Amino acid sequence: MRLLRAAWVAPIADDPVADGALALDGGLIVAVGPWERVRADHPDAVVDDVGGVVLIPGLIDVHCHLEWSLVGGLFSGAHGFGRWIAGLLSLFPLAEGLLDDAARLAALRALQAGSTTLHDNGPTGAGVAALTEAGLRGTVHLEAFGSDPAAAGEVARRTADGVAALAAAAGPRVAVGVSPHAPYSAGPELWHALTRALPDGVSWSTHIAESQDERDALSGRAGGLADVFAPIGVGIARWPGAAHGSSVRAMAEAGVLGEGLVAAHLVHVDERDAELLARHGVRAAHCPVSNATLRCGRSPVEMLRAAGVPLALGTDSPGSAGTYDLRAEARACLATHAAAGLHHTPRELLAMCTRDAAHALGRDDVGALVPGRRADVVAIRPRPEALPGDPHAAALDAGSRVEHVWVDGEPLLRDGIPVRVDAAEIETRAGGRRLAVC
Ligand SMILES: [Zn+2]
Repeated sequence: MRLLRAAWVAPIADDPVADGALALDGGLIVAVGPWERVRADHPDAVVDDVGGVVLIPGLIDVHCHLEWSLVGGLFSGAHGFGRWIAGLLSLFPLAEGLLDDAARLAALRALQAGSTTLHDNGPTGAGVAALTEAGLRGTVHLEAFGSDPAAAGEVARRTADGVAALAAAAGPRVAVGVSPHAPYSAGPELWHALTRALPDGVSWSTHIAESQDERDALSGRAGGLADVFAPIGVGIARWPGAAHGSSVRAMAEAGVLGEGLVAAHLVHVDERDAELLARHGVRAAHCPVSNATLRCGRSPVEMLRAAGVPLALGTDSPGSAGTYDLRAEARACLATHAAAGLHHTPRELLAMCTRDAAHALGRDDVGALVPGRRADVVAIRPRPEALPGDPHAAALDAGSRVEHVWVDGEPLLRDGIPVRVDAAEIETRAGGRRLAVC
């Protein structure tokens, strides 16, 4: 039994506690409350007094790409979404070793930013080793691409084999899922073939309704995505009756929207789409930084919430966005929607990164500091002038920093230093790899 004592505990599921404590046992939280009460109830426990920090639940990134940590700045959204994604996809033939080192750097950055659970997506599944080595929790989704109906079965079989091999190599905190990349890059035949090839209960993730280019491609308009994909050998997938351009409607009509599917972006959606997403149990991964960088527009989160679509935040990747820093994503979320007249409080934003994210991923084991949940905890050191005040605002503030991270009660970051992995070695190797793509 161990007690963590801190200036503030912000359980998210409940009001914050000044001079608070958590009691941890066997990787679980067993008590939360004022220090004096928790101490009195557990007089023999070992005490770890972490001082003037705010303890919050480990952050949960519901959509990211660990393999793309080294491509920041290489491709700009200034010339449209289509040109950006064609540039990114053209890197696929690069050596897998590069993506392995990139994923390790990404997992390090996520840990340093306080993320403890990640919903990763990538073409090789390099995130499995990266998360396992760092000690982080998460699900790595192996991406599948294909617009040719005749090849769908073979692509699905290969993908299912890849998922099984990755799952066998994954540590106890890491699961493996599948990600048909997007409706324009993975056709309905591939979605159905993947459903047949993969076991029930596997996690699914994708991108939906990200850009106007996607609407144009689905509705069969020439140019746009088709023109930039052709030179790299990628065909545009065709969906029956998709002339309206709505990815959500086309996918719902094709029967591929399933309970628990996590869909990133959802920018170009209307009320009918939102109602369909809710009815099919789809969860929204909101990526405001990426949407803004690629000039895709603002996701109507108020409409998705009103329809009952669970919604949380994802950092996407430096290919289009930031550096796996979920609190920065939350601050961007605040700014994006404030400009449209929608206000989020610091507590609501932190909830999007924790409690709401766990709900979106269908998890009841993480996302809040309450008894019975896994002891995934982050200690954030606010700017000195931020305490006393609102601990949620102090923990979100850009001037605060992540000091300690625990997963299952195991320290993974102590005083900003990773415990399981060597940060300098990862950064040096990744730096060398970056030269190969520049
Ligand atoms: Zn993405």
